[in-house]
Amino acid sequence: ETITVQELSNRMAERATEVIKQLMKLGVMATINQTIDADTAEVVIQELGHTIKRVTDADVEMGMLGLEGNDEVNLIPRPPVVTIMGHVDHGKTSLLDAIRSTDVVRGEAGGITQHIGAYQVNLASGNKITFLDTPGHAAFTEMRLRGATVTDVVVLVVAADDGIMEQTIEAINHAKASQVPIIVAINKVDKPDSNPDRVKQELLQHELVVEDMGGDILCIEVSAKARTGLDKLEEAILLQAELLELKANPDRSAIGTVIESKLDKGRGSIATVLVQKGTLKVGDIFVTGNESGRVRALMNERGQQVDSAGPSLPVEVLGLNGTPNAGDDFVVVESEAKAREIAAYRGHRDRELAVAAAGRGSLEQMLAKLKEGTAEELPVIVKADVHGSMEAISTSLQKMNTEEVKVTILHSGVGAINESDITLAQSTGAMVVAFNVRANPQARELARRENIDIRYYSIIYNVVDDVKSAMSGLLEPEQ
Ligand code: GDP
Repeated sequence: ETITVQELSNRMAERATEVIKQLMKLGVMATINQTIDADTAEVVIQELGHTIKRVTDADVEMGMLGLEGNDEVNLIPRPPVVTIMGHVDHGKTSLLDAIRSTDVVRGEAGGITQHIGAYQVNLASGNKITFLDTPGHAAFTEMRLRGATVTDVVVLVVAADDGIMEQTIEAINHAKASQVPIIVAINKVDKPDSNPDRVKQELLQHELVVEDMGGDILCIEVSAKARTGLDKLEEAILLQAELLELKANPDRSAIGTVIESKLDKGRGSIATVLVQKGTLKVGDIFVTGNESGRVRALMNERGQQVDSAGPSLPVEVLGLNGTPNAGDDFVVVESEAKAREIAAYRGHRDRELAVAAAGRGSLEQMLAKLKEGTAEELPVIVKADVHGSMEAISTSLQKMNTEEVKVTILHSGVGAINESDITLAQSTGAMVVAFNVRANPQARELARRENIDIRYYSIIYNVVDDVKSAMSGLLEPEQ
């Protein structure tokens, strides 16, 4: 933590020369543009009779955005936001399409459905549900990495004839890691060889106990093809939403998250924004990620213009000065000057963070916390060549829990390290253990880019040894 002499004097509303004079008394020779450390700054602040208040980047931003203070007023229920996850070919796309066909205003409103990354379904009961239509859970985790908590409920699709597969387990673990409730949709029950009971049994192994087995996980049997069970699934989602008491204040300036963005040849940068609080209107000035703009038009998923969008409604926004990233926040501010100031501040901060983060993976941050004693668990991801080794490693690691630190196996599986493993490691600071397996090229590339260490082993004892070092924060980085 450092601050320039200029900035410090600005914050105290003192002249810079006064600050420099105080620094000289402390034996520090500094010019106006030089940085001093936080401790030195504290002494100067006290000497000049001011009170110390350390502010984080987040505080500065909240102040700039005018988001401080309590906005928990005028809360009214909002529709739930749902992400559908599951193994490839288990019917995610088909189920989304089938659900979309239950929309009661679809036919009458006309327009041709476009892919904008999210859409809201209007049910016959008058209720609404918003579905995110971003492929795969990689997108889900990527959003979470940017600090965006968009999804209220995960619908886990499992094909009744196939059961729990590799990506089903990945999806379960991603949902658990982000503490989002899961509803299970057992799909393809129209197939003669479907076996929903087997799926329910298999779910038990992943600590998902469905209602008919005495648990609290809602589980619905559906067929995306025959379009059966869809109303029950929708009811289950609404029930879960009720339990979550999802509410937002529609009468304030809008805050949301970017779901998707693209650069359109004719129309410029376009982002699909999910409004989370307040109401977004044409003409609003906003900041999103490091970009800013003024809303020129809002479009729904039928390509029709709308004047405004309230909580949980996804809309395409035109009028951006640049293309933001999925997961970036979207905040309406009072003036263009403010928007530019914030965008510039963020650009500057990101460059600083990029420099600071270079060469430092998230496991390293986790290790630093373990060393300080401020972390209570070491998350681990284990991939092995055979089931037996995977089990043996998991068992050995679980035996290592101490009073201070617990080893948590976030995900384990048989097979190569894949991208999903890396994104999970990235968002949790987990240690990635590859036992007699390699990483696939995409995973290797992602790991390289994101500075995630993949640790390769062929002897269980060595895994145990390294985890022991990691638990006290003493694991050396891979060379
Ligand atoms: P995704 O990869 O999870 O998005 O799966 P898709 O929606 O693409 O479906 C994969 C295949 O399963 C397609 O051939 C679908 O027609 C088929 N399918 C999806 N749902 C059902 C279902 O309820 N019953 C049957 N019999 N087939 C289905």
